[in-house]
Amino acid sequence: MPVEHAAIIGAGIGGLTAALALAGRGISSDIFEQAPELAEVGAGLQISPNASRVLAELGVLDRLTSLWLEPQSIRLISGSSLRELAAVPAGSFARYRWGAPYGVLHRKTLQKTLLDAVIANPLCALHLGIRLESDLPQGRRPAAVVIGADGVWSKVRQAISGAPAPQFSGNIAFRFTIAEREAPGFLDRSSVSALLGSSAHMVCYPLKETGGFNMVAITAGNIAPQAWQGKPTQAQQDLLQSRFRRWHPAIAGLLEQHSDITFWPLFEATPGKWQDGNKTVLIGDAAHAMMPFAAQGAAMAIEDAFELAAFLATRPVSEAISLFERHRTPRIAKLRQRGAFNRFAYHASGPIRLGRDIVLSLKPPQSLAADLDWIYGYHPVG
Ligand code: FAD
Repeated sequence: MPVEHAAIIGAGIGGLTAALALAGRGISSDIFEQAPELAEVGAGLQISPNASRVLAELGVLDRLTSLWLEPQSIRLISGSSLRELAAVPAGSFARYRWGAPYGVLHRKTLQKTLLDAVIANPLCALHLGIRLESDLPQGRRPAAVVIGADGVWSKVRQAISGAPAPQFSGNIAFRFTIAEREAPGFLDRSSVSALLGSSAHMVCYPLKETGGFNMVAITAGNIAPQAWQGKPTQAQQDLLQSRFRRWHPAIAGLLEQHSDITFWPLFEATPGKWQDGNKTVLIGDAAHAMMPFAAQGAAMAIEDAFELAAFLATRPVSEAISLFERHRTPRIAKLRQRGAFNRFAYHASGPIRLGRDIVLSLKPPQSLAADLDWIYGYHPVG
């Protein structure tokens, strides 16, 4: 018997998308979220066509496209000279090539849009301020399947033998925003800019919601994760600035001016089992938290949610969750490899960096786009 009712733990991007995707197939759900309200968490997100295709299926894309910006290109830029090395076309090119748009927005905009759709759907019941500890919280009715969409520190994992575990990646992300009037000349409102340097890179893009720019820099190094959370100490700020001292003065100067920088140690999930062969299954960061080098973590949570719903609607639970795991594992593994390659290429130094710059400069935009077809052109089952 296919599933009639599900329990979803976590109302992040993955959990809310799962509730909508299940409802689209006539399956009701209780969604349990530990936070008493869904406040502003995180910063900007890039939503690639593989994810926006799913969001269109779920009926929320029109709302999102009225709130987000569609960059015309994703530019790779040398952090030392500010020379453009390559540019992947996006904008109308993305809509034409991959059949769905590429957008940038604040994470809260995506979460609120999904949340509004969940609240309006009679098949979805959201319970805020309820944290899963060990036993499943009480919902409207008994659930035939438990979906762990509870992020990198997932509790649902405890029900699955051999589940993934969080592991520090050795990288710290630091985030800040720049008001439009303060934006330096190398930033433009029509593109996503990825500035590349040795052992660090910085991604910058405009946000319609604030009118300013979302800035995320990721730096690798010999850093213990525990002390890096939230507001930095002066010593931490100095250490980070020292990493950018050899970059172009316009970037080094930006970091010195900004006191609103927040820090996030980046954890990834080790490979492991995503389901227990019975009724519990993990999606999104709970299953496969990954480094943001391919900007695909939220996109994968969205794809997971949609495909899991398709399997649950057509098969008995144990079969559906096993099939889900078998079906999704190769794609996630390939994306992790892509992320690891990007990490190597973005943070390269010395002769490898010179080689990277030459290869990128010689690649025509069509060939850069073709390298992304398997990610952005993906059509989920169902
Ligand atoms: P989460 O968003 O972590 O949601 C989990 C939810 O579960 C939370 O609401 C939490 O409160 C709740 N929860 C946790 N434990 C419990 C419990 N015990 N009981 C009840 N509720 C619980 N991805 C992209 O696609 N594009 C990007 O451009 C991009 N940029 C990124 C930049 C950075 C710097 C980082 C760090 C990540 C980026 N990502 C990006 C990745 C993306 O943010 C995550 O992969 C995505 O948010 C994961 O969604 P999720 O729903 O699986 O988990």
